[in-house]
Amino acid sequence: METNNITVGLPRAMLYYRYRILWGVFFQELGVKTVVSGPTDRDILEQGSALAIDEACLSLKIYLGHVHALLGQCDYILLPRVSNFGHHRNMCTRFEAMPDLTKNVFRDTQQKFLTCNIDVLAGEDEEDAFLSLGRQLGFGPKAAKRAYKLAKKADQAQHKARVQKQEELSRREGLKILLAGHSYVVEDPYIGKVVTDYLKAAGVTPLRADLVEREHALKRSRELSPTCKWEISREILGGIDLRKGQVDGIILIGAFPCGPDAMVNELITRRVRGVPILNLVLDSQTGTAGVETRLESFIDIIRLKEGML
Ligand code: SF4
Repeated sequence: METNNITVGLPRAMLYYRYRILWGVFFQELGVKTVVSGPTDRDILEQGSALAIDEACLSLKIYLGHVHALLGQCDYILLPRVSNFGHHRNMCTRFEAMPDLTKNVFRDTQQKFLTCNIDVLAGEDEEDAFLSLGRQLGFGPKAAKRAYKLAKKADQAQHKARVQKQEELSRREGLKILLAGHSYVVEDPYIGKVVTDYLKAAGVTPLRADLVEREHALKRSRELSPTCKWEISREILGGIDLRKGQVDGIILIGAFPCGPDAMVNELITRRVRGVPILNLVLDSQTGTAGVETRLESFIDIIRLKEGML
């Protein structure tokens, strides 16, 4: 594969956890180098918190910290805008505002940004967005389309393998707890991964509500809410409906303050019956000890209920 001298920076936050294969393979096929910011740590969170307005959610603060970590490390930093995937398939408004907001925060730097737009209701789909990325980097539609097709195939294969792994885990013996949250919260090493690691150390198998076949989950989400309009929340709702009979408890894991989660989690606690639910809202002040204490008592409650204590 020929390479050119362009390097694109990918902030390891937000949509990175959904699109890392798609972006990675796309740029690789075009011969564009990528650099990913390091795992979230206290410095990244503090830097992002200092740059964000107080009302911003924890995920956005972390995102800005990652963009800051990439300044000067690459020619462009990728800032995608994702508005919707169609009717009743919206993303949270933070994803709509992402490029404008981030460019404004870093307006006094020399950093260049690369943006694209997914807004199916306005006639711009995912493939259009990738062709636009290619065009901005000087690649014709044929090369960009080829790279996108290969990237999409790799992305679908990886998602299928992850769903398959969840199927295997769901058949394990012992306690199983479903983690229901956005992938950028659940997988972030500084916030959500603390929860996964604690469960594993306690002998509990964590499952993921978001690692399900997406189209199927979107259809199943209607069982819990026919009107929810947020794409990722609907996938999670569908994932809960699909997995609730296979687990001993559900942890709703979110980043403070999250508008979609506030509404959807309320709905879940009212509509999902017969499974203990813990609502864990993480914020920048959350200490690991506080989270661990809540997880410990939740696991004890489940074990007590199931006669295991
Ligand atoms: S869905 Fe919630 S956590 Fe995610 S970006 Fe929007 S407000 Fe933040």
